[in-house]
Amino acid sequence: MTIRTKPRNLIQGATGDWEVIVGMEIHAQVVSRSKLFSGASATYGGEPNDHVSLVDAAMPGMLPVVNAECVAQAVRTGLGLKAEINHRSVFDRKNYFYPDLPQGYQISQYKSPIVGEGTVTVELTPTESFTVGIERLHLEQDAGKSLHDQSPTESFVDLNRSGVALMEIVSKPDMRSADEAKAYVTKLRTILRYLGTCDGNMEQGSLRADVNVSVRRPGAPLGTRCEIKNVNSIRFIGQAVDTEARRQIAVLEDGGAIAQETRLFDPARAETRAMRSKEEAHDYRYFPDPDLLPLEFDQAYVDTLANALPELPDAKRARFIADYHLPPYDAGVLVADRETADFFEACVGYGGASRDAKAVANWVNGDVAASANAEGVAVHATHLQPAQIAGLVDLIADGTISGKIAKDVLAILVSDEKDGDPRAVVETRGLKQVTDAGAIEQAVDAILAANVAKAEQARAKPGMLGWFVGQVMKETGGKANPQSVNALLREKLGI
Ligand code: MN
Repeated sequence: MTIRTKPRNLIQGATGDWEVIVGMEIHAQVVSRSKLFSGASATYGGEPNDHVSLVDAAMPGMLPVVNAECVAQAVRTGLGLKAEINHRSVFDRKNYFYPDLPQGYQISQYKSPIVGEGTVTVELTPTESFTVGIERLHLEQDAGKSLHDQSPTESFVDLNRSGVALMEIVSKPDMRSADEAKAYVTKLRTILRYLGTCDGNMEQGSLRADVNVSVRRPGAPLGTRCEIKNVNSIRFIGQAVDTEARRQIAVLEDGGAIAQETRLFDPARAETRAMRSKEEAHDYRYFPDPDLLPLEFDQAYVDTLANALPELPDAKRARFIADYHLPPYDAGVLVADRETADFFEACVGYGGASRDAKAVANWVNGDVAASANAEGVAVHATHLQPAQIAGLVDLIADGTISGKIAKDVLAILVSDEKDGDPRAVVETRGLKQVTDAGAIEQAVDAILAANVAKAEQARAKPGMLGWFVGQVMKETGGKANPQSVNALLREKLGI
C-alpha cells in the first residue's frame, strides 16, 4: 500500500482536521461482440430479452464457454495498468439470489484473478500527478435488469445484460479528496478508451463506480469505510465523496461510530442513504465453478498482446512534450482524448510540412474545441478537417492574415463554407492582411487628423498608443498588419 508521509487536503471539522480516504471498485464493460460465456450479442440496447441465449437464461444443462476475446481484453487492460498478469486464474461462483440473476450465482473471480497489482499515474493538474495502486482486475458476468415501471402490479426482467463481460478494477485506498477520486476515474477511463477495452460510456452504464469512503484523524489508522454503490458520473463521484465524508465526520464528532455498510448517493438531495449493511465475502459461499477449467495461458500469449498495444496516454504525452516541444499543459489536454491527439498530429504534419506545434495546439485546444463543444461533439467529429486548421496556421505564419482575421476565417469555415479552403476564403472575401505601407499610412493619417487633441496627449502619455492602434485596425477592417501600424504610429507621434 502507498503510505503517504504528509496528509493532504484535510477537511476541517468542528473538533479538528480530518483526512478522507477513497478507494474505488470500477465495473468496466468489456468491448466485445458477444458475452463472457455465451454467443449472444453484447450490444447495448435492443428490445428487452433480444440478446439472450439459453446459457444467459440459465436453462438446465447449459454450459458456459469462455470468450477468448474477453480474456484478451482483460490482459490488454492489465498491461495498460502496468499490472502483473496471472498466467493461471480461476472462475468462481458468487452465490446470491436476485430476480435478475437466473443462475442464482454470478461467475466471477475471487482468490485467483486474471490481473494482479498495478499502478495508474493520475494528473491532478497539468504539472502535478500522483499514483494510485491497482489491487487487482478480475473478469465477471453482469446481471440482468429488473423493470418495475412497466406495470402497476407486476415487475419484469430484462436479461439483455445478463452474462455481458465486466472487468472489475479494484484500486487501493490511495485517493485523498473528491478531486483525486474524479481525476483517477477520468484517467482510468482514458486508458481504457485508448486500449479499446471499454467504451467508458457512463451514461449507458459501461463504466460504473463503487466508491469506498472513510475518514480518520491525520496519521491515525484507517477508519471504517462505507461503500457508495453504482455512481454513474464523474461529477457525482466527487459529490458522493464530499457528502459521505462530511456525514461520517458529523457522526464521529457527535461521539458516534461508523457502521460498515453499502449506501446510495442521491444527487437530487445531495445525500447518501443506507442501502444495506455490508455483507462479507464469506456470505457469498464462493467456490470454483465446476463447469469451467482454470484459465491458463503462457507468456508468449501475453507478449503477442503486449506488442500490439497502441501508444498509451502517458507515453503520448511524453512524446508530445519531447518531440513537439509542447508545454505539459497543452500536451495533457491533447492526449486526454486519443482522437483529439490524432487530429492534432494530422494538423501539424498535414501535407508533409512541419508546423509550429504550439500554434496548432492553441487552435485545437482553443477555437476548434470550442466550436466542437458548441456542436456537442468531440473535436475529431466536427466537420473541420486537419487540412483547414493547417491552412489557417500557414496563413498566419506567412503573414497573409492576422490571428484575429484567422478566427473570422474559422467562423466562416464552421458556418458558411464547411468544405472551404482557408486560402480561398481569404482570397474571395478580401481578408488579406494589408502590408502595403501606403495604404496603412493613409489610415494612420486619417485617424491622427480626426483626433488632433488626443494625438497631442499621446505624445506626453505613450500609454495611449494602444487606443490609436485599435482605431487604425478598425479603420482597415482588422486587415492592417499590427506591427506596421504600431511602428508607423510611433514614428508619426514621435514616441
Ligand atoms: Mn463485481
